[in-house]
Amino acid sequence: MQKSQAWGVPAAGKPLAPMTIDRREPGPHDVVLDIMFCGVCHSDIHQARDEWSGGVFPMVPGHEIVGRVSRLGAEVSKFKVGDIAGVGCMVDSCRTCAPCTENLEQFCQKGMAGTYNSTEMDRKTRTYGGYSSRLVVDERFALRVPAGLDPAAAAPLLCAGITTYSPLRQVGCKPGDHVGVVGLGGLGHMAVKLAVSMGAKVTVLSTSGGKEADARRLGATDFVVTKDGSAFQQLAGKLDLIIDTVSAPHDYNAYLGLLRPRGTMAIVGAPATATPLHPFSLILGGRRLLGSVIGGIAETQEMLDHCAKHGIVSDIELIPIQKINEAYERVLKSDVRYRFVIDMASLES
Ligand code: NAP
Ligand code: ZN
Ligand code: ZN
Repeated sequence: MQKSQAWGVPAAGKPLAPMTIDRREPGPHDVVLDIMFCGVCHSDIHQARDEWSGGVFPMVPGHEIVGRVSRLGAEVSKFKVGDIAGVGCMVDSCRTCAPCTENLEQFCQKGMAGTYNSTEMDRKTRTYGGYSSRLVVDERFALRVPAGLDPAAAAPLLCAGITTYSPLRQVGCKPGDHVGVVGLGGLGHMAVKLAVSMGAKVTVLSTSGGKEADARRLGATDFVVTKDGSAFQQLAGKLDLIIDTVSAPHDYNAYLGLLRPRGTMAIVGAPATATPLHPFSLILGGRRLLGSVIGGIAETQEMLDHCAKHGIVSDIELIPIQKINEAYERVLKSDVRYRFVIDMASLES
């Protein structure tokens, strides 16, 4: 065992504070990452406040991790010391069930080992996330971060990037498609960049009028403020695909009405409470509703390579760990442009 410095939540809803955690000695297939940067996902906040229930405390959040490989197990072949590697929401899975063998580890029938608020596959050893100095992970669950990507701005790709890339790929987003992105936060701004990189025309649907200039700079051609009901009439039946990234309860039925016949709405935002769905919202127009959670390891690598090819990273606000509680409050106010990333060098100060 080796000690690692971290910041975590001692109990549900409490502020984050410094703590020390244990990391295992690396096994033959493990890499040791000295964590450089970790993104702050809204899922960290949902879990730190136990909004999804079942949270295990103390909890060290963080699943948008980029670090430098500092040690290798004897059998590691994918990395060498000094490489920049990334870890997202998973650190292991059973590797043998049908989804695992189909590169869909996120649907492992035994339950993936989450990067935090979870256990390793022994179902005993607690996992702790990236708001920490070091992580030990099997090389299969570590991603190669292409050299062309800035490591700090690449960190959010490990969750916000893959979570929006995957549904775009699942529906086969192609040049000329009209994509609606609902909510311009961490996931939403990645959805805009990725959809534009696939040749789509993007309309952002936002509750924040002040984000219009940013939306256009990110590549959107249209921006509508959803508090103004006329947006729903103006766009009715026009969109091929909607990526809904909203973190709070809202009316799915209203957004489904914006799809063209047989269009698809992909829900990736994960509000803690249910919202009623009217059957007619789907039946009329033969509309499709899709749920999507992160992506498999192979697809995550594909997304990183796609981002390197297209020069895509996240727009970030780099913060020291000491500002994390303030950052959570700002995320809750939709006041982040567009992802906080923690500079882990600040752990030492
Ligand atoms: P975020 O940065 O806070 O962005 C969410 C955006 O939703 C906000 O910026 C805001 O955009 C909009 N919004 C917030 N409250 C709203 C409300 N009451 N009504 C309408 N719009 C509202 O969060 P994030 O990190 O992108 O995460 C978004 C959601 O996705 C979270 O629930 C998170 O847990 C979930 N998530 C899911 C997956 C997955 O695999 N499915 C992965 C990661 C995250 P505007 O200001 O533009 O309105
Ligand atoms: Zn996340
Ligand atoms: Zn499995």
